[in-house]
Amino acid sequence: MLNFMKNIRTVIFDLDGTIWNWNELLPQAKYTVEKLKEDGKDVYFITNNTVLSREGLARKLAKMGIKTSPDRIISSGYSAARYFRKKGVNSVYVIGEQGLVKELSIQDIKVNENAKHVLISVDRNFNIWKLKRAFELVEREASVYATGSYPYWQIGSNGTKIPAELPIIRALQAMKHVPVMNLGKPSEAMREAVLKTIKSFPEDTVIVGDDIYTDMVLANRCGFRSVLVLTGVTSEEEARKAKGEYKPSEIIRRLDELVSVF
Ligand SMILES: [Mg+2]
Repeated sequence: MLNFMKNIRTVIFDLDGTIWNWNELLPQAKYTVEKLKEDGKDVYFITNNTVLSREGLARKLAKMGIKTSPDRIISSGYSAARYFRKKGVNSVYVIGEQGLVKELSIQDIKVNENAKHVLISVDRNFNIWKLKRAFELVEREASVYATGSYPYWQIGSNGTKIPAELPIIRALQAMKHVPVMNLGKPSEAMREAVLKTIKSFPEDTVIVGDDIYTDMVLANRCGFRSVLVLTGVTSEEEARKAKGEYKPSEIIRRLDELVSVF
C-alpha cells in the first residue's frame, strides 16, 4: 500500500482509463473500490463524461459491480449545471447528449435555441446544423463553454476512439475565433463542485486518475494528493517528466497498488 493511503479519508476516482474503458471494467477496479470502502474510505467518482447523467453513470457502475449513488459522482455536466445556476443563467444552447440535458434540467436550466450561452460537449449526433446554430448565437455575442477539451475518448480496449469536445470546439472556432471556457476537469467550476461534495480536508483526500493534464492538475489545484495510474492516456515517461501542477504525488501501474501490501 502507498504509505500516505493510511491517513486518507476520501478517494476520488476518475472513470475513463482508470475504472473503465467505457464498456469494459479495468482489472482490479472493483476489488480496489470494495477494499477501500471496507477500510472505511469515502469513495467518489469524477468524470468529464456527459453522455450519461450522474444517475446513468451510477447505474452503469452498478451493472459492472461497483455500487455507488449519483451524489457520489461529480461529472462535468453537473459542474456546468451548477455553474450556470450560480450565475443565474436559466437557458443554454447545448451541443451534447441526453445525459447533459438531464443534468441541466435538474438545476432548472432549459435548452433553448436562442440562448445567450452555448455549451459544447460530446455529441454523437453532432451535425452542420447544430454548428450553424452555435455560430449564429456567437454572432449575437453568446458566450461559449465546454464540459472538457479532450480530442477523443476511448471505448473498450480495441482502440476505438470517438471525437470528444475539442473537434467540435475547433469547428466553431474555424468559423469565428471565440474564447471557450472549460467547466470540466481541471477548471475552477469543477474544483468548486468537488470541494462542495466531499467531506474531508484537502490533505486527507486523493484523486486517482490516468491523465496528468486533467486529473493531476485538478488534484494539485485542490491541494489533494494525486495518484497517476498508467492504465490510460498518460505514459510512464510523460508522468515522470511532469512538473508543477501536472506532477503526480505517486505513479502506480495497477489500481490495486492503492490497497495491496507488496
Ligand atoms: Mg481518464
